[in-house]
Amino acid sequence: MDVTTPLDHCPALILNADYRPLSYFPLSTWSWQEAVKAVFRETVTVLSEYERVIRSPAWEMKLPSVLALREYIPNNRTPAFTRFNVFLRDGYRCQYCGRKFRTQDLTFDHVIPRSRGGRTTWDNIVTACQSCNILKGNRMPHECHMYPQREPDRPSVFELQEYGRKFPPSFLHRSWGDFLYWDVELEA
Ligand SMILES: [Zn+2]
Repeated sequence: MDVTTPLDHCPALILNADYRPLSYFPLSTWSWQEAVKAVFRETVTVLSEYERVIRSPAWEMKLPSVLALREYIPNNRTPAFTRFNVFLRDGYRCQYCGRKFRTQDLTFDHVIPRSRGGRTTWDNIVTACQSCNILKGNRMPHECHMYPQREPDRPSVFELQEYGRKFPPSFLHRSWGDFLYWDVELEA
């Protein structure tokens, strides 16, 4: 990271007005263009900068690396019911055998099978590996003695964000470290 770093490699970490990341998963970042526009609109406070400078004939500025919104955005939406968020809630673990898998090796399972009236909802869908999904088939949990490790429910946005913290993105600039709580070492 220096004065010649390509602009595309200078995203800004976006914090809410309470200086916590707007989102952990995916981590809230803006491109340098969005970041610069926000600085000019004065909707953000610059907390940290890259060494990388951009210039026009009239002005020059260091690209921001950490920005905080001036106005607080409440984060109390209900999370989207997507495959991805179900996997995240379940920590990428098959809820039957308890093993961890990559996204492409996971599927989801209806605890009460659809053929038995089970619905596609947060409280009836769990993460499963292909083998367990096939093994369980159209049986009720008590018929095959396969129960989810954790009773499925709808997580709050806060809970999903907490789970997301366990899966840090590949790019983390060192200036972001003060504002994040990953359990990993930051890029030096
Ligand atoms: Zn399994």
